[in-house]
Amino acid sequence: MDNIKTIGVLTSGGDAPGMNAAVRAVVRTGIYYGYNVLGIRKGYEGLLNGDIFKMTLRSVGDIIHRGGTFLQTARSYEFNTEAGVEKAISITRVFGIDAMIVIGGDGSFRGARDLSRKGLPVIGIPGTIDNDIASTEYTIGFDTAKNTVQDAIDKIRDTAYSHERCSVLEVMGRKAGHIALNVAISGGAEAVILPEKEFDIDRDIIRPIIDGRNRGKKHYLVVIAEGIGGAVDITKYIEEKTGIMTRATILGHIQRGGSPTVYDRVMASRMGAMAVKLLKDGCINRVISFRQGALTDIDIEEALKMKKTIDEDLYELNKILAL
Ligand code: ATP
Repeated sequence: MDNIKTIGVLTSGGDAPGMNAAVRAVVRTGIYYGYNVLGIRKGYEGLLNGDIFKMTLRSVGDIIHRGGTFLQTARSYEFNTEAGVEKAISITRVFGIDAMIVIGGDGSFRGARDLSRKGLPVIGIPGTIDNDIASTEYTIGFDTAKNTVQDAIDKIRDTAYSHERCSVLEVMGRKAGHIALNVAISGGAEAVILPEKEFDIDRDIIRPIIDGRNRGKKHYLVVIAEGIGGAVDITKYIEEKTGIMTRATILGHIQRGGSPTVYDRVMASRMGAMAVKLLKDGCINRVISFRQGALTDIDIEEALKMKKTIDEDLYELNKILAL
């Protein structure tokens, strides 16, 4: 698009490994195509404060391997108001920002949509470990987070086996169970409890553990999604009902950090470059989406109307493999 000369880029919402690779790709692809690229620190909060600086090829050097986001991120309550969005638009005019690339979750996409409705062209790049954005099957950081949890499961399994224990593991995902379901499969869990599925503790946790013990199992793993919570209470209940020594582990923020996997780095790089190319081709107010093995783009208003569901095939597979 000829009328776009300066592109702003920000990361917003929860940080996710791979966000740095996406920013790097935006900056380098932007400069390659002759754009002026400005970095905005601390998401919409930084936009409102004018915390904005010129990015060069070197300003994104040595960040591709780092977790978190070097631009930093924040949750802004002021931006979430009509007056906040107006103020943000006036700041973009002060800095001469003609288009904005927003890397974040669906809350961040809602913010980007609000900017687009005021006339600022935007592109959204899905970045959250939770993979809870309806318009895409993959979000930046999801792969690294799953691998971090899997690493923890393997360590917990060693000790659980040695003591013939049951381990209850609470994993992140906010109101979504995508991390929980995937690591239940990769970790060989006896049970997985997801916010998207109703559950009965005796039927879905106690019974599979007792059945497993009768077949000679030496350890047990129960994965609980953050949106269900209550890992400590569930742990006590399992111990009371089965007599098996049971321990809870709530992994917490360890799941958000760490060096991004190759997959996250490559996908983030592709998405960052694609965001710039969309602007160059005059495609505005789109969000990048990974569907059926390919990168594509969707209108931001349409994307935000979509509803995310859990992968039913994976859910059924886990039931079969947990036998
Ligand atoms: P994650 O899934 O990792 O938490 P997210 O982008 O969904 O990421 P949020 O905290 O929901 O994280 O949103 C980030 C920021 O986007 C908020 O602080 C706010 O400034 C803006 N935002 C969130 N929801 C809206 C909304 N409905 N309308 C406008 N702006 C919003």
